[in-house]
Amino acid sequence: MDVLLTGGAGYIGSHTLIELLACGHRIHVADNFANSSPEALNRVRSLSNRDFAFSRADVRDRAALIALFQEFRPEAVIHFAGLKAVGEGEAKPLDYYETNVAGTMNVLDAMNAVQCRRIVFSSSATVYGEPEYLPIDEAHPLRPASVYGRTKHMAEQIIADWGRARPEASGALLRYFNPVGAHESGRIGEDPHDVPNNLMPYISQVAVGRRAKLSIYGDDYDTRDGTGLRDYIHVADLARAHVAALDYAAAHQGVEAFNIGTGAGFTVHEMLRAFSEACGRDLPYEVTARRPGDVAACVADPSKANRLLNWRAERGLPEMSRSAWLWQSGNPNGYEAL
Ligand code: NAD
Ligand code: UDP
Repeated sequence: MDVLLTGGAGYIGSHTLIELLACGHRIHVADNFANSSPEALNRVRSLSNRDFAFSRADVRDRAALIALFQEFRPEAVIHFAGLKAVGEGEAKPLDYYETNVAGTMNVLDAMNAVQCRRIVFSSSATVYGEPEYLPIDEAHPLRPASVYGRTKHMAEQIIADWGRARPEASGALLRYFNPVGAHESGRIGEDPHDVPNNLMPYISQVAVGRRAKLSIYGDDYDTRDGTGLRDYIHVADLARAHVAALDYAAAHQGVEAFNIGTGAGFTVHEMLRAFSEACGRDLPYEVTARRPGDVAACVADPSKANRLLNWRAERGLPEMSRSAWLWQSGNPNGYEAL
């Protein structure tokens, strides 16, 4: 299939790109490198031994996007491009609405211009807000508690309305839980440009000496050891979910949401222990106050994706930590250290 990837140079996009190339899809990546590096694409080329097209493009630029789609004429789009830092979203809401919501409308417009009818969209478990029950299935109420979450919820609704207006259209809204880990080669991985907000990249940077210690945000939650519990999913499993969603979109009509997680949860202490085993030493930490807006536990019910996409997560916590450490130890400063 001819597939256009917005944001294909980013963390999840680059891992998905490798899977798509391995399956023989023809790819065009569009990215403005707002939060990624051209080096990620160079490494995907050498790891996969396959080529793909690239355009430096901004999803906020509707005219440029339409011109690009008219040139490449994709049969499907995987729309990763977006801003994803929860705290930054609160400080710069208009930037988040412009990139994540208006950007998605521009992508749909460009698809319309070339009669492209299939989209796989990077959504997030954050659209659910505070869990009312666990595990969370797709019927759980959608009450996002942040600007970022609301941009993803709005983009989902816009895609669903777009799909309703076109009976032949199909869309898969993939609600990722907590993506972690790296490609098994350790050559591509997560490379946050600022101080990491997320647990796994923060632990990795402590392990490699870039940060002094991990702050554990509260150990008085109602979980098995008092620290927050999340559904961590290996990025390589997540990448495969996109290939499965593309196949599903090619064979079905309508827009569907899917939880992409493992169904199992790990606490902060368990993540720290697993990473310490991977890197071979105990890592320093201190327990601090709870982070505002955090919930005690968040775990997916991924059975809809297991059933309809014929996909399930295969990699466990040791592989998540081992691959993250291989990437971080081999690239202590991410893609910059060349
Ligand atoms: P990332 O920042 O590594 O990748 C996003 C990519 O989009 C980057 O390459 C960035 O340069 C590009 N981009 C940003 N703004 C752009 C613009 N205006 N025009 C063109 N390209 C632009 O993030 P990621 O972790 O790979 O996330 C990919 C998608 O998945 C995002 O939409 C994110 O919101 C969503 N998501 C991520 C997580 C997570 O924890 N990583 C969880 C749930 C959902
Ligand atoms: N966390 C932590 N210290 C950090 C980053 C995160 O203790 O430096 C905790 C956080 O409170 C939550 C879990 O780790 O319980 C996962 O946080 P992350 O930000 O990675 O994911 P999210 O909260 O968005 O699911």
